[in-house]
Amino acid sequence: MEYISTRAQQGTESIGFCDAILSGLAKDGGLYVPQVWPQFSKNELKAMQGLSYNEIALKVISPFVGDEISQSDLTRMIDEAYASFNHKAIAPITQLDENNWVLELFHGPTLAFKDVAMQLIARLMDYILADRGERATLVAATSGDTGGAAIEAFKGRDNIDVFVLFPHGRVSNVQQRQMTTSHDDNVHALAIEGNFDDCQSIVKAMFNHHEFRDGMKLCGANSINWGRIMAQTVYYFTSAIALGAPDRAISFTVPTGNFGDIFAGFIAKQMGLPIEQLVIASNENDILVRTLQTGTYKKDGVQPTTSPSMDIEISSNFERLLFDKCGRNSDEINSAMGSLAQAGEFTIAAPTLEGIKQDFAADKTDESACQATIKDVFTNNAMMIDPHTAVAVYVAKQHQKAQTPMITLSTAHPAKFPDAVKAASGIEPELPEALKPMMTKEERFNVLGNSAFAVETFIKENSRITK
Ligand SMILES: *Cc1c(COP(=O)(O)O)cnc(C)c1O
Repeated sequence: MEYISTRAQQGTESIGFCDAILSGLAKDGGLYVPQVWPQFSKNELKAMQGLSYNEIALKVISPFVGDEISQSDLTRMIDEAYASFNHKAIAPITQLDENNWVLELFHGPTLAFKDVAMQLIARLMDYILADRGERATLVAATSGDTGGAAIEAFKGRDNIDVFVLFPHGRVSNVQQRQMTTSHDDNVHALAIEGNFDDCQSIVKAMFNHHEFRDGMKLCGANSINWGRIMAQTVYYFTSAIALGAPDRAISFTVPTGNFGDIFAGFIAKQMGLPIEQLVIASNENDILVRTLQTGTYKKDGVQPTTSPSMDIEISSNFERLLFDKCGRNSDEINSAMGSLAQAGEFTIAAPTLEGIKQDFAADKTDESACQATIKDVFTNNAMMIDPHTAVAVYVAKQHQKAQTPMITLSTAHPAKFPDAVKAASGIEPELPEALKPMMTKEERFNVLGNSAFAVETFIKENSRITK
């Protein structure tokens, strides 16, 4: 499969899978997307019924990789990645009521859905670098969960150094400790004096600083990296097929921040999976809800909430959706993103907006509804859910239709956000045994100012590439 940038002029050269995985952001500032969406026929989808998570993963991921990695190596990496999960089903579904289901994506080593993609792309990157005899520097901005998942997946790897940027004082204690208690030489946790969007801007600035980027062999672990999205596409297939697809359509509700997770659902639909509706669930940071209502994407400031991984107003992957929905016209993307950078907003052309609304709905939840939902699910289902999942369960119920099963993505384990869950349910969720030692380990991190220069200087001084 070949990949093109959302901002590239037509006729610009495409790149292959391995280069797309290693490069993160395209040099023109755009995001890589496959040249075409692979297709599964109804019979091919039916043939997935009864297969394991790893078997379906191989079928879904193979067309994106093409012949750049052998099937046997890809199979081995998928098996190793998901052996790190502590549930045999990898991503089990639990029934909430007649037609509402929760897809549990938090059984990986850092208890958030980020592990699903990170465990696989760490192996893919290490494999590609070893094959080429190269080394790389991985950078990631995190609102809390990506950082821990990246450090867990990449720690101790020979060919990659990892630098994670998190907003100082704005992540939960468990999230912070997952980033600061790995003492491997190749991992560095950087607390930035700013919010998540600032961290993400610094990462994008480093990618757009081509001399630094080339010198450090920069690659990215955020969902700007195509590999993240690709790996997340898999669980839309496994869960929909478990509930009867392709013989009936399924809807999904997704707690959304950077638009990576729900965009993976859009891809599954493009590939032939019968998805009726994709519902974007937001907390009080509702920029995407407003965008679908008004057609204007307009920044308005970020409020801290109890679901911090969604406290975002630059949803990077929305660019990939826009690109697809405007007929893959990079001029339209360049002008929208230019306007966002300069004026803090852009307006979506009417036909593009209509196209988006055919696949997506969007709704928000406030803090009190989120709390009430945690309590409600605890009372009625004897099940603890984290605040991100609660935001989505609430929204899912508003968008439920009688005939179509609704699957809500549960993106984190409740023990990652013990304070919010205890405040709502009265009970403190217990951390799984394997994670307990981390809570008393010594923390190691550096506090840096909100500046790309400060971060670049730190990386140059601490990366093994410059040594
Ligand atoms: C990252 C994250 C999200 C948001 O996912 P996006 O792909 O950024 O939209 C939601 N919930 C949790 C727990 C997360 O870690």
